Formats: sequence, structure tokens, C-alpha cells
Amino acid sequence: MIQADELKFTYPGNAEPTLKGLNFCISPGEIFGFLGPSGAGKSTTQNILIGLLKNYSGSVKVMGKELVNISGRFYENIGVAFEFPNLYNKFTALENLNFFRSLYSEATAEPSKLLAMVGLEKELHTRVSAFSKGMKMRLNFCRAFLNHPQVVFLDEPTAGLDPANAKRIKNIIFEQKKAGVTVFLTTHDMHVAEDLCDRVAFIVDGQLRLIDSPRELKLKYGRKMVRIEYRQNGKIQRIEYDLENLAANKNFFHIIQSGQIETMHTLEANLDDIFIQTTGRDLI
Ligand code: ADP
Ligand code: MG
Repeated sequence: MIQADELKFTYPGNAEPTLKGLNFCISPGEIFGFLGPSGAGKSTTQNILIGLLKNYSGSVKVMGKELVNISGRFYENIGVAFEFPNLYNKFTALENLNFFRSLYSEATAEPSKLLAMVGLEKELHTRVSAFSKGMKMRLNFCRAFLNHPQVVFLDEPTAGLDPANAKRIKNIIFEQKKAGVTVFLTTHDMHVAEDLCDRVAFIVDGQLRLIDSPRELKLKYGRKMVRIEYRQNGKIQRIEYDLENLAANKNFFHIIQSGQIETMHTLEANLDDIFIQTTGRDLI
């Protein structure tokens, strides 16, 4: 659905390239996460993929079309949520969506339904100037789905949202995937990547360091151990066992049967740790 080969990009006036030869391929119906620290080149990549930045080198195709050759028709089939909401402040939420809707020639989604999906059903007639940053983010997110797109590009869709609304956004992305939509998602939030993405690409300084599924990464970089915290003589004790042959481990069963267990966790790595381990960089 999306394919990049040796994708390079330099902003006019910059000495250094921002993207230094990216290679990736995204299948239909996949949620593909671009995970990397601020300044890594995530938004630049998204802006190339939606045809906004044109002077790239290498090849990049969306739905089989090289992006330098796209026509207006391309925008009928994709949805975009930019990192910074671009909305009309003097218009209400509904007026904004109705305006963006008018740009499409084919059937569009019902704005009130989209607004209800992100919890803005009571704000249909509120001017965007009265919206908080998070409300603008959610309205901006709705905009990406107006035209029933086959592919959506979401730049930091949960940035600045409270946990309840972030969860709501995550659920919607997941529902879209189930309906067959391909999702290109950029984020520096490893929880979002971990919860949602079929595969993640780690990007640092305009280069991809690794592409894999969060599950594979966690298994590969984690320790195959279980850590148990239990209470003994009023004190918390901690012990770790190998997962291998756990069923035959008498000590493990002894602890389990003691009835004093407080916590029990397997020690797979989280994406944050793996990111630091493989790139030497923090995700911030
Ligand atoms: P991210 O989205 O991963 O935080 P960006 O793609 O926004 O990163 O930026 C990557 C790099 O490109 C940064 O070093 C930034 O300074 C540079 N950059 C971004 N936008 C522009 C621009 N319009 N002109 C010049 N340089 C830019
Ligand atoms: Mg960005």
C-alpha cells in the first residue's frame, strides 16, 4: 500500500539531509508506526507521503502511485491528521467538518457521527476558538476520516490528550484497521506504538534503525523470566525464575502455593528500553 525505496529529503537551505535513505513497505490493512524522538524526521516523512513535500529523491509510492505524479484524485482516497491542527477558529466544529467535506466529490461520513466518536457530540455548534488544545486535536482527528479513506496518515494523534481520550482515539484507530484501512502513524509515545501497531519502525536522525512487530521485539530483547514479589515474615521478597521448564520448577510451585504472592510479571522488555538499547537514544 505504501512503499519507500532509498527515500531521501533535504529541506531547501539546509546543509544536512533530513531523511537519509528510508526503505519500508506497508501492507494493506496494517497499522505501521513511525517511532522516534523529536526531530527524527517523522513529520517530514508523513508530509512526503501525502504529497506535500515534493523534492525528494529515491522512490515513494502510495497505492501504487509515485508521489511526484499524483493528481487531485489521490486526496479522495487518503485521510490526514497533521501534527498541528489546522482548523478555522471562527467556524464551529460542524462548520469546519462541513467545509472540509465540501472538498470531496464522493460520499462523505456524517460529521455528527464522527464528532460523537471522539466525544465532541455536545460541541457541534461551539466555535473552535473556544476549544482546548485537546478538543482541537480530536476535531482534527475526525477530519482525517471524512472521506472514508483507504489510507490514513496520523501525526502524533494522541499528543496532549488525557488518558481517557487517548484511549478513545486508540480504539477508533483499531476499529478503522478492522474495517481494512491502512494506517501510517507517527508517534514518540511508545505506549501508543505498543498498543496499536502491527509493526514499528525506529527512526533516528533521518535513518531507520529497525522494523519489526512490537511483540517480536519484546520477545527478542526481553528476558524469558518471571518475577514474583511475595510476602515473608511481613517483608516483601523478590525472586525471578526462568520461563523455561517453569512447570517442573518445585520452588516456583512452593511460592505459588504459599498464598503470599503480591505481584507476578514476565520480564519482556518495553519498547522504550528496546529503543534505547538499539539506537542509543531516548524517545523524548
Ligand atoms: P519529527 O516529526 O520526528 O519530530 P520533523 O520531521 O518535524 O521531526 O523534523 C526533522 C528535522 O527536519 C528537524 O531537524 C527539523 O529541524 C528539520 N525541519 C523540519 N521542518 C523543517 C523546515 N520547514 N525547514 C527546515 N528544516 C526543517
Ligand atoms: Mg513531528
